[in-house]
Amino acid sequence: MTELYEMTAWQLAEALEKGHTSSVDITRSVIKRIEAVEELIHAYVTAAPERALEMAKEADMKRARGASNKLLGIPIAIKDNMCMKGHRTSCGSRILSNFVPPYDATVVSAMKEAGMVILGSCNMDEFAMGSSTETSFWGPTRNPWDRDRTPGGSSGGSAAAVSAGEAVVSVGSDTGGSIRLPASFCGVCGMKPTYGAVSRYGLVAYASSLDQIGPFGKDVRDLALLLNVLCRHDPKDSTSVPRQHPDFTTVLDAPVAGMKIGLPREFFSKLDHPDVERVMKEAQRVFHGLGIRFVELSLPYLDYGIAAYYIIAPCEASSNLARYDGVKYGHRAADFSNMIDMYRYTRAEGFGAEVKRRIMLGTYALSSGYYDAYYLKAAKVRTLITQDFKAAFKKCDAILCPVAPTPPFKLGEKIDDPIQMYLTDVFTIPVNMAGLPGLSLPGGLSADGLPIGIQLIAPHFEEARLIQLGAAYQRETDHHLARPSI
Ligand code: GLN
Repeated sequence: MTELYEMTAWQLAEALEKGHTSSVDITRSVIKRIEAVEELIHAYVTAAPERALEMAKEADMKRARGASNKLLGIPIAIKDNMCMKGHRTSCGSRILSNFVPPYDATVVSAMKEAGMVILGSCNMDEFAMGSSTETSFWGPTRNPWDRDRTPGGSSGGSAAAVSAGEAVVSVGSDTGGSIRLPASFCGVCGMKPTYGAVSRYGLVAYASSLDQIGPFGKDVRDLALLLNVLCRHDPKDSTSVPRQHPDFTTVLDAPVAGMKIGLPREFFSKLDHPDVERVMKEAQRVFHGLGIRFVELSLPYLDYGIAAYYIIAPCEASSNLARYDGVKYGHRAADFSNMIDMYRYTRAEGFGAEVKRRIMLGTYALSSGYYDAYYLKAAKVRTLITQDFKAAFKKCDAILCPVAPTPPFKLGEKIDDPIQMYLTDVFTIPVNMAGLPGLSLPGGLSADGLPIGIQLIAPHFEEARLIQLGAAYQRETDHHLARPSI
């Protein structure tokens, strides 16, 4: 028998509508699952099962009174960088390990309004800096498919939770690939929406011009449901774009024949992993079978994506993280003799090595005399990348490429070699640089049974097109139905 925790949000919503189950039953099933496997996976930083059950009871009461929105009573996990009133939000860092926000992030308010049941917050790389969830102050999350491997990062906990059945759906944030990479590594679906589509109010800032919140789910249908809750204008975020988002569920069964997909030569020429190559070829076959035509693209500036990102993101981070000084909130060093030492010891104790590396990089690149050489150059490269994509979308409706160059790597394999870790994001970073939406879908398994994702990229605010293509792909394939055995 299929357990409730194994089902998709869509299936659970239908069972709830028919009165076959209750939110309390679903939530209990997920909590039982968390109790059974969390020790092996470590998907959560702070799970809050009692509160979740209260929320589930409330959802059942609302339904009894006639409320009927689709996600009412569905359990969701958030990432540990999204503020929730009264719930510790540590951002995977010691410096925020005692921070309990007095307010809800807009996405959290939206989930509460929809009557969703919030299970708790998931593990992540410290301040979302990383690709493996290993830089978390709380220790790494393990990949449910192979516990010696990383779930990807930085939203590794959110992806692992959905993959392991510890949440029905979840949200993460994506600055350079942090939703799409863990989705790929954990065999689930994840989308980074267009910059400005989802409010960042209450999201702990890493690199503000790149950060974007997005959904994880077992299939594209679940992403559509969740996008309906997440995408909306928020006057509290000045970069939130005022526009009417479509109902993303209306395109789920729409045909895709006649659409054109671009294949960026620069991306495909970089492939040197046989399993990733095979998965990409198979994806092309499936889309071809759906009546899609392919065009070859050249996006020459994408090659400079990583170099430019590792100037821009650390610059913004060095500025955003200046606020953690032990004065206003968060950790404060216990022993100091003057104010300057208080700052120094607090930051020395509170931040981990990767965060310090980024702060130093960013501070150096922004310092007087270097600004033109680094930040300004990187900003120009960013514009060129955006123009590359703009030109590409004149020739195609969407772009297909890998999510990551390899299947999930081993824990410890890259943690001492930052450059190798940074290179993991070669296929995801350009999307953030241009502010575009990107979708990561399970595309098959490697020879040794590990998930490999495929990525679709669309023009700004064309999330619906990604959903349409992804749903069509999942009608023809069953990769999204594969589950790890834990
Ligand atoms: N791995 C990239 C970094 O470390 C991207 C992380 C993210 O998207 N938050 O910055």
